[in-house]
Amino acid sequence: MSIVSFNTTVLHNLFSKPKTRKAEKEYPAGTRGHVENDMDLCILCGLCSIKCPTHAITVDKAEKTWSIRPMSCIQCRCCVDNCPKKSLSMGLRFQEPGSEKITKTFKQSEKAIAAQEALMKAAKERAAAAAAAKAAAAQAKPSDGAATPAKADPADARNKVEAKTDNK
Ligand code: SF4
Ligand code: SF4
Repeated sequence: MSIVSFNTTVLHNLFSKPKTRKAEKEYPAGTRGHVENDMDLCILCGLCSIKCPTHAITVDKAEKTWSIRPMSCIQCRCCVDNCPKKSLSMGLRFQEPGSEKITKTFKQSEKAIAAQEALMKAAKERAAAAAAAKAAAAQAKPSDGAATPAKADPADARNKVEAKTDNK
């Protein structure tokens, strides 16, 4: 390469725009970056964990935690589509590169715990009220009216007919 050509290339590169795009600048619509969980909404039902094809998600109800292993996630979006509370979403930013297989753990928020406890309490109260109403209805039934008349036995009718024919 001649010195003239070399200088031309240097000058061209100095005054022209870069040919590459800066990383982490633009995230096109529909980018499947990484899974995010809004722990204010998550009820730790475990459905995302069951649906995940790579077993990247773990739910610990006793510890009230939701964990994800980002290196195992293939960004299929299956967990997001199956979350009943819509607490999961695909964050637009790509997963940060790393050299270790880490597990990210998130604790269920106090707000979510309180909301879940209130829901369970309301459900228990509804069930108790329904059971009490059923028991009251069952108790009230026998005193409602007279006993239903007994059905005529067809065998009795036959016997009567036979008795008549005997008397002839
Ligand atoms: S993220 Fe959604 S599907 Fe997963 S445990 Fe929480 S509420 Fe259930
Ligand atoms: S996006 Fe797919 S692979 Fe990643 S955690 Fe959700 S279900 Fe699992």
